[in-house]
Amino acid sequence: MKTVYDVIIVGAGPGGSAAAYYLNQAGLDVLLLDKSEFPRDKTCGDGLTPRALHVLSDMGVLEHVEQIGFNIKGIEIHGRKGNRIIAPIPTHETYPDHLVIAPRLKLDHLLLEKAISKKIEFQSSVRVTGIENKNDKVVVRSSLKGVKIEYWSRLVIVAVGANINLLQKIGVLKVQPEMILAARGYYEGLEGLSDRIEAHFEDVPLPGYGWVFPISKTSANIGLGYWKSRFPWKKPPSSARTAMKDWLSKSGHLSRMMKNSSSIGQIKGYPLRVDFQSAPTQLGRILLVGEAAGLVSPLTGEGIDFALESSKLAAAYIVEMFEKGDFSNEEIRGYDSMLRKHFQKLFIFLARIRQIYVNPTLMNKYILATKRYPELKDLLIRVLLSQAEASELVNFSVIRKIVFGI
Ligand SMILES: Cc1cc2nc3c(=O)[nH]c(=O)nc-3n(C[C@H](O)[C@H](O)[C@H](O)COP(=O)(O)OP(=O)(O)OC[C@H]3O[C@@H](n4cnc5c(N)ncnc54)[C@H](O)[C@@H]3O)c2cc1C
Repeated sequence: MKTVYDVIIVGAGPGGSAAAYYLNQAGLDVLLLDKSEFPRDKTCGDGLTPRALHVLSDMGVLEHVEQIGFNIKGIEIHGRKGNRIIAPIPTHETYPDHLVIAPRLKLDHLLLEKAISKKIEFQSSVRVTGIENKNDKVVVRSSLKGVKIEYWSRLVIVAVGANINLLQKIGVLKVQPEMILAARGYYEGLEGLSDRIEAHFEDVPLPGYGWVFPISKTSANIGLGYWKSRFPWKKPPSSARTAMKDWLSKSGHLSRMMKNSSSIGQIKGYPLRVDFQSAPTQLGRILLVGEAAGLVSPLTGEGIDFALESSKLAAAYIVEMFEKGDFSNEEIRGYDSMLRKHFQKLFIFLARIRQIYVNPTLMNKYILATKRYPELKDLLIRVLLSQAEASELVNFSVIRKIVFGI
């Protein structure tokens, strides 16, 4: 164990492991800590967008991820009264033209193994309980099976996902962040699955949607997520698990699909942070990445891609600081501006679109409009995958086609 590491990373999800991998490329001494023993599960829909696959390809693990996951070629969006859109994943100059559904139990372990090296030390079962800036260093306080341990480093990356307790304790997060509530279960023996994912807007709490993400030809991750309604008189479900059970019992589509199926394990619920627009991303020498910085799409709830992308960006920023030997406050504060430059505009538009589109009436109108204007299908899918300027979806000509059909 070193006395002072270059960087300590707290949290070994996709964000933490990707940061470790990229810091290793520059030869920095890194300690990666996680409270869990790996392999460990993480409640998730397991969907890897083309943006996520792009970073995984850069990390040299795409082929392996495709082997542990299930390749997806298209998307179905089910509106009301049986109306639906079926569309392929659009081609893109940078991103792959498919998705992969890869169970987190396997994905996170694979990424962690890729990250660990001579220079990247990993400690499991270490729960970090405090992080404090101390002049030109940072102290990380933790507990390993009840034993208190302190680690020191020049900089710290916090990649703890939606665990806001630690962020509140260290004083970086001062307000309750905006959250999506979500739950998912695994099922086998399903009928009628294809190489498309499904999004459903009927019989689920709104604004929100349900999903069917196949992990094989006969098994899938099925779940739902919803946002707090803007209307105070709309009582939310008592929990995401309750909402999920309700959806499973009401949906005709699901009952046909699940006729002879059985569940694998329990339905599990977990919140998602979607507040990047106003979220803090740095406190002294402590830098936040991925969901710890609120980087989850406020439109769809997907966050693995942004965890991978922000961690790659954070690593590059840190490496440059080490190369320049500049750890001034000004330099460190530039981290926030760099993240905002990459993600702020996209997140503002995704949040706006959510207000307008994650609403069954408008979604239905949109689905009907695609029959007349097929180009709207491609546009919607690109926006959902965070590949298009979300503003394209709220321009006058699109609104006119949806609302008035002209
Ligand atoms: C039901 C549900 C469905 C979702 N579906 C999708 C999807 O299909 N596609 C998608 O892209 N995203 C999805 N998301 C979002 C996605 O799961 C997260 O955005 C993503 O995991 C964030 O990655 P991360 O590395 O930032 O954090 P995480 O993956 O949450 O990793 C955080 C790590 O930090 C560790 N940790 C936390 N606190 C401490 C501590 N105090 N000390 C030490 N270690 C700590 C945890 O053990 C964990 O390993 C979903 C989320 C939910 C809840």
